[in-house]
Amino acid sequence: MNRKRNTTIRSGNIDGALKRALQGGFRCRVGFSRPQSIGSIAGALKRALQWLLLSSGVVIAQAADDPSAIALGLPLQCQTGETCWVANYLDVTPGPGVTDFRCGARSYDGHDGVDFAIRDRGAMAAGVPVTASAAGTVKNVRDGMDDTGLLAPGAEAGLKGKECGNGVVIDHGGGWQTQYCHMRQGSISVKPGESVPAGATLGAVGMSGWAEFPHVHLAVRHKGEELDPFTGHAVSSACGQAAGAPLWRQELKLAYEPAALYNAGFSPGPPDIKQIRAGEFTDVRITAQSEALVLWVDMFGVAQGDQIRMEIAGPDGGSVVSQDQKIEKTQARRYMFVGKRRTMLIWNPGAYVGRVTLTREQAGSAPWRATIERSLTIP
Ligand SMILES: [Zn+2]
Repeated sequence: MNRKRNTTIRSGNIDGALKRALQGGFRCRVGFSRPQSIGSIAGALKRALQWLLLSSGVVIAQAADDPSAIALGLPLQCQTGETCWVANYLDVTPGPGVTDFRCGARSYDGHDGVDFAIRDRGAMAAGVPVTASAAGTVKNVRDGMDDTGLLAPGAEAGLKGKECGNGVVIDHGGGWQTQYCHMRQGSISVKPGESVPAGATLGAVGMSGWAEFPHVHLAVRHKGEELDPFTGHAVSSACGQAAGAPLWRQELKLAYEPAALYNAGFSPGPPDIKQIRAGEFTDVRITAQSEALVLWVDMFGVAQGDQIRMEIAGPDGGSVVSQDQKIEKTQARRYMFVGKRRTMLIWNPGAYVGRVTLTREQAGSAPWRATIERSLTIP
């Protein structure tokens, strides 16, 4: 079902474990082919004006009954870039083909919301609250689906019509609704008809429904039309348009991330990506006698042509291992690792630093870079 994300399996460093590209969300999407109406242009202007007023310090009460005004908070309690990451944006290309609002590939066909991922299923088990992005009234709730998502063999057939998994729909008035999907089984703590303030806990992030990793899928609708909260535009408005007026609360400073290096670590041998993603790879011990020293990374949104540099520096600052690799295939999620076998009697005790840098060339501007670093002390 995901045409652009076929996964090849090659020498252990490609995400072949799931054989299917990352498909996070709620597949159903109502098609919209209407051109942008005068009304929605007027709405965008109005929102732009409101941003200006907000930034000039004028306080505007959130007018939920004003069809052009909504200001959304995050749909989960987290720190973006630290404990949560956008795994998929909306697909703004009507019909076949996939582009996010910046014309990148960080989406999949028909994806109608934003997927906010947490690090792994360990974080899911510990509990990350899903929160109301704005004040409103709970309209619908579904609970009771388990959190194996698409990982259970043959799961897809059983998820037909229930792709959202456990979820909540909130009505904000003025035709605005938000929907939260893939919540943890048994976690939903609100009932239909209940009023909730912005930021209220609705339940916990899970992996129910059409999900391969723990995340919350946030869909935003106005009068039934799906909007991209990054632009305020309808999903059919095509990529690369004028920035629009984001629906996010300004202080969130939610910017587009071309890719996300969301997890990394050391291991004494080839890492087990299934264990890593399950959150079961946390007490890995590396000693002076370990056979090998391996640095691994897990990333969202790698693109063909990206340059990945992986390096481990030893206690004296010298390089233990360093590798540059060019990404040959655009993939929604991919892990890689680099390592060195121990050739001396022991690893030198001291502090080691592992660093992974993704560099993406951009036409007409400086390359974009993202880095993740981990440190390790060998006693
Ligand atoms: Zn989704």
